[in-house]
Amino acid sequence: AAPAPRYRRALLKISGEAFSKPGNFGIDGDELDIIAREIADAAKVGTQLAVVVGGGNIIRGAQLAQAGHIQQATADYMGMLGTALNGLALKEALENLGQPARVLSALNLSSVAETFIRGRAIRHLEKGRVVIFVAGTGNPFFTTDSAASLRAAEIGADVLLKATKVDGIYDRDPHKHSDAKRYDRLTFREAIEQQLKIMDITAFSMCMDRNIPVVVFNMKEPGHIAEVVRGMNHGTRVEM
Ligand code: UDP
Repeated sequence: AAPAPRYRRALLKISGEAFSKPGNFGIDGDELDIIAREIADAAKVGTQLAVVVGGGNIIRGAQLAQAGHIQQATADYMGMLGTALNGLALKEALENLGQPARVLSALNLSSVAETFIRGRAIRHLEKGRVVIFVAGTGNPFFTTDSAASLRAAEIGADVLLKATKVDGIYDRDPHKHSDAKRYDRLTFREAIEQQLKIMDITAFSMCMDRNIPVVVFNMKEPGHIAEVVRGMNHGTRVEM
């Protein structure tokens, strides 16, 4: 028999950029299929799996507001709606692969998604459904990283898995410095003090308060999501 999974319940954060071709915007069918297959494989490990999806491939509120035509609060609500588009696409792609999934939204979008209710989210997880949380926290001026830490705390996740395009946390930007060093492990305090631009401070401090370890790893490596869910040490682990 397969060994018992390391985590009972995990929260996976996927950036919006996972849904588009590198450097592009919107939702690309091929990228969607790749990410759905990776998540469906991870769901087979036996760990209950919840996903928070970002929306940077559609709208980033701060960036949109900067042009001066739309206030940031409105731009942020637009950004949250963008995450819902990604979530609906992901649900359909997962179900096409035979993996049951549900979309739970922090904003009321009752025609297209269930509204987030904590107990309902947990019930879906217990039934083996992948739960996709969309619309972030439901509040402007936050990020989907903060939503990921909030939902991880609410559902009692054992770990927050942050899937990104880099393979962990470096002491400097590895795209700019060839001698940048990757950390295998960091404490929350170190991560916050160094203001490492991998996750915002609100999200890190929530995880620190609740003692939820964060694993930052590269989602573009085939099989990595399932392996990290299984407990393999890819990327950087941030903990107490
Ligand atoms: N957003 C928000 N409140 C939240 C989560 C997200 O206002 O709780 C908005 C914000 O404008 C953000 C956009 O939604 O720029 C997309 O989310 P994010 O930038 O976190 O996506 P990612 O970088 O993960 O793709």
